[in-house]
Amino acid sequence: MSIGQNLKKIRSQRNLTQGQLADNAKLSLNQISRIERGSAKPELDTIKKLSIALYCSSDELIFDDHEFISSDELRILFNAVEDLSDDKKEMIQDFIEAMIMKSDVEKWVNKTTKKEESKALRAIIQSEYAPGPCKACGAEMKERELNALEVNKNIEAVYQCTKCEQKNIFTSKKP
Ligand SMILES: [Zn+2]
Repeated sequence: MSIGQNLKKIRSQRNLTQGQLADNAKLSLNQISRIERGSAKPELDTIKKLSIALYCSSDELIFDDHEFISSDELRILFNAVEDLSDDKKEMIQDFIEAMIMKSDVEKWVNKTTKKEESKALRAIIQSEYAPGPCKACGAEMKERELNALEVNKNIEAVYQCTKCEQKNIFTSKKP
């Protein structure tokens, strides 16, 4: 598809006549008509005016659908931001930075909370679940590393006899 065909398509989607688009874009009706017919190649400045008037990105006018990388609304909004005043741009930048920072903080808080929870749980395990000597042989019980299967089963701690196969398993009540 040519720029002309793209322009016609997008203009129709916006329910605009050539005359209305010409008014909105501050271009002449003749210019719009010639671009759509393919008898005129628009200048960069004209493409810019058209994309602003049509609320589309210049990519949508220039590229064919299959060449068009992503016409997501966010990117179109970013194009619109370009035309805002500097202090508004700064506000938007601050806002985006704050959102990114907020999400980083949330990730950090979640991580820390999980760590704190598991620390608290370990304290409970150690205070209320202090394994005595092995019930089978009387030897010392020692905590050992959990394997993946045990972690999946919400097992929090495993105490294993240092002499025999006896195990004491602590499972959390969390689902
Ligand atoms: Zn034992």
